[in-house]
Amino acid sequence: MKKALVLGAGGFIGSHLVKKLKHEGFWVKGSDLKYPEYSKTEADEFIIGDLREQKICDIVLNQYFDEVYQLAADMGGAGYIFTGENDANVMHNSALININIVERAVKHKIGKIFYSSSACIYPEFNQLDPESPNCAEDSAYPAQPDSEYGWEKLFSERLFLSFSRNYKLNVRIARFHNIFGPKGTWTGGKEKAPAAMCRKVAEAVNGGEIEVWGDGKQTRSFLYIDECLEGVRRLMNSDFTGPVNIGSDEMISINDLAQMTINISGKNLTINNISGPLGVRGRNSDNKLIESKLYWKPNWPLLKGMEITYNWILEQIKNKTI
Ligand code: NAD
Repeated sequence: MKKALVLGAGGFIGSHLVKKLKHEGFWVKGSDLKYPEYSKTEADEFIIGDLREQKICDIVLNQYFDEVYQLAADMGGAGYIFTGENDANVMHNSALININIVERAVKHKIGKIFYSSSACIYPEFNQLDPESPNCAEDSAYPAQPDSEYGWEKLFSERLFLSFSRNYKLNVRIARFHNIFGPKGTWTGGKEKAPAAMCRKVAEAVNGGEIEVWGDGKQTRSFLYIDECLEGVRRLMNSDFTGPVNIGSDEMISINDLAQMTINISGKNLTINNISGPLGVRGRNSDNKLIESKLYWKPNWPLLKGMEITYNWILEQIKNKTI
């Protein structure tokens, strides 16, 4: 039986990944600061611990694994990453985790290691026009991410690639673009746009309004969790190192995302654009590389994933108020 290790297994993507790997027949060990928030972990073994600590990493990555997935990071949505207040922690904590893990992955001669980078590594100057942002993989340099979160991801991509060159570590790197879906953070300040939008709409009184950060003309694309994991597994099963985008190329303005959510709810709501932390003006996944290397790209319509996510968040709100 193949063995997998998922770091960040208590998080949104990690907890879904554990479930997928179990269904594929892997024996899975997980580790995180916390257990998954919204369902019991399906991991065979789960170690609660701080991966910034050497001793914890020695316990967690202590043997050969066929596959290791490094998803643990200090991260959140715009309200966490773009205010500047968490910059030192984001850089320090995530870099430490990656440095600790890469060293042990070499020591135990693991089969393959996946690293989750981000669309936030792309230069701000290529994302000023909301209608035509450039996020092709080879546009990453000269680098100018708009957040320290993006700079740390870029550093860690290079860290993994260096270990691949110098120590023959078998690495796969994906740059995720705004992954969303059920069992993701939807309240508390670390939630991202789709979940925040669903919460605001679900909580709004019919005939009222919802607040949306910025002028609402900023654009993004959002990828449903199942398609993200499909991309991760296809990348791991391929010979391609990456970095490669794993994202949707269905670009939408934030106001249109708000309107889509309002339409799903069936409510009559107005959108009130207010100032707030934003990030780049436009961003969309460029899927030419993934298509040419993996002969696959995500293709679910955004609406389908948003309907599922809205209904899940609505249920959470109802359960909270019972
Ligand atoms: P998440 O915050 O839900 O999961 C990250 C997990 O890492 C959390 O459970 C957290 O507790 C854990 N963690 C943080 N510090 C830790 C520490 N010191 N020791 C042990 N565990 C620690 O985020 P996610 O959405 O599941 O993202 C997973 C990965 O994908 C992250 O590396 C993230 O940067 C990357 N990514 C996500 C998105 C997205 O849209 N969700 C986009 C781009 C990149």
